[in-house]
Amino acid sequence: MSIVTVDVALGTRGYPIRIGAGLLADASAWRTAIRGRHVLVVTNEVVAPLYLERVQSGLQGFTHAALVLPDGEAHKTLASSANVFDALAALGATRDATILALGGGVIGDLAGFAAACWMRGIDFVQMPTTLLAMVDSSVGGKTGVNLPAGKNLVGAFHQPRAVVADTDTLATLPDREYRAGLAEVVKYGAIGDSDFFAWLEANADALNARDGAALVEAIAVSCRHKAGVVARDEHEHGERALLNFGHTFAHAYETETGYGTLLHGEAVAIGMVLAAQLSADLGRAPRVDAERLATLLAGLGLPVAPPRCDPDRLIAHMRLDKKNLGGRLRLILWRGIGRAEIVADVDEAAIHAVLTAAH
Ligand code: NAD
Repeated sequence: MSIVTVDVALGTRGYPIRIGAGLLADASAWRTAIRGRHVLVVTNEVVAPLYLERVQSGLQGFTHAALVLPDGEAHKTLASSANVFDALAALGATRDATILALGGGVIGDLAGFAAACWMRGIDFVQMPTTLLAMVDSSVGGKTGVNLPAGKNLVGAFHQPRAVVADTDTLATLPDREYRAGLAEVVKYGAIGDSDFFAWLEANADALNARDGAALVEAIAVSCRHKAGVVARDEHEHGERALLNFGHTFAHAYETETGYGTLLHGEAVAIGMVLAAQLSADLGRAPRVDAERLATLLAGLGLPVAPPRCDPDRLIAHMRLDKKNLGGRLRLILWRGIGRAEIVADVDEAAIHAVLTAAH
């Protein structure tokens, strides 16, 4: 099966995203991204038994070690980054060391953050093993950790030297995690690519079956979109915000139901459907497009109706969203499939009506 490369065009900080089957075991695909002698693989207790050996077998000639962290979002913390710093120190890592982040978005965000901090910034390579990490978190350079006060409150923009997405790793991903990643794939079609959206509709069965060729195509198109947005708006001053389509609703439901009840991708699926319905209610988009979006997401095994929650409490959470300006609700809505837009000062009564009708 073919390997696809997508380039992130950021000048001297640009990098390739390689996508295909068998990439982890084929060290020629990623060893060239390592510039110095020291390599630390950061991974977790779920991923290590599955894939660490494949990576380590490609590290002959380097001074290398592996740090295996406990699994889960609860460990995306400053304490875990301190563990990474200690492991780098024990390795004798110098300014030209490289971190390999082998895992999902939790490992990628944490290891990338540690790489941004160690000696004020060293190289790192993203080796995403979840679909969400392949199409979203490993591309674009956002790194960070959580505090008890909130998610991702401490972080840095730090671009990787390369992204290596081995689609073979998706075979072991739990079903819900896989489908949560598909929600982010659908998002790229929904916000900016109606042809890709139609392709997803036509290939839903192949994606449900985790067909290798369909996966490479879906990941490559998604990464091309993310790479394009990141190249044009690296630090989220404008267009990059469109990637948050559905996310304001999603965060409100995640907060209200307690983190962990809904996977993020599941909440995003619900959030996108609500954003599309709100756009239709406001007369900005065809209702039939909202229905197509819900049908595609449901066909990919994602939830499209929210859990029962108090609309006023949800709106209170939405008011705290980072995208708001001057106390007014600012949302990513759309004109229809493939055409997302930022809308300032959205009418709260209309939001209330959508939230009330949703369940
Ligand atoms: P995750 O990293 O927690 O992975 C999900 C689960 O799958 C974990 O239990 C993990 O151990 C397991 N797993 C990983 N790969 C596996 C494999 N191949 N086989 C079997 N099990 C596997 O979750 P995620 O959804 O990948 O990432 C979520 C994180 O990403 C959040 O912390 C979120 O804040 C972050 N994120 C960051 C960005 C960004 O731009 N930096 C964007 C979106 C999300």
